[in-house]
Amino acid sequence: MTTQTKTTTWPEGVIARYLTVGGAAVDIAHDTLYLSDVEPNVSTARCGGCEKYRNQEWEARADRYSNGSSWADSDARHWAQEHAEKCRAMPKPTA
Ligand SMILES: [Zn+2]
Repeated sequence: MTTQTKTTTWPEGVIARYLTVGGAAVDIAHDTLYLSDVEPNVSTARCGGCEKYRNQEWEARADRYSNGSSWADSDARHWAQEHAEKCRAMPKPTA
């Protein structure tokens, strides 16, 4: 299990990372839903093993930019945790 504890540099913008049973990483980052969006408005969880992902839109409300991402981050983390526990796809080797 020693290889699973090694740390690598996280991609820019990644706020949380989950290790899957297959040895890939599920990364959570803030992103924009549409190309025309200028501010981040979605939390994205993406699996590096099987390419499955989940977009969690931030709640549109008055406090959107103060803590609008809180619930979306929470949901994204929940999805990442569940996915990491069952995904056995291995990450592509890097050169
Ligand atoms: Zn996966």
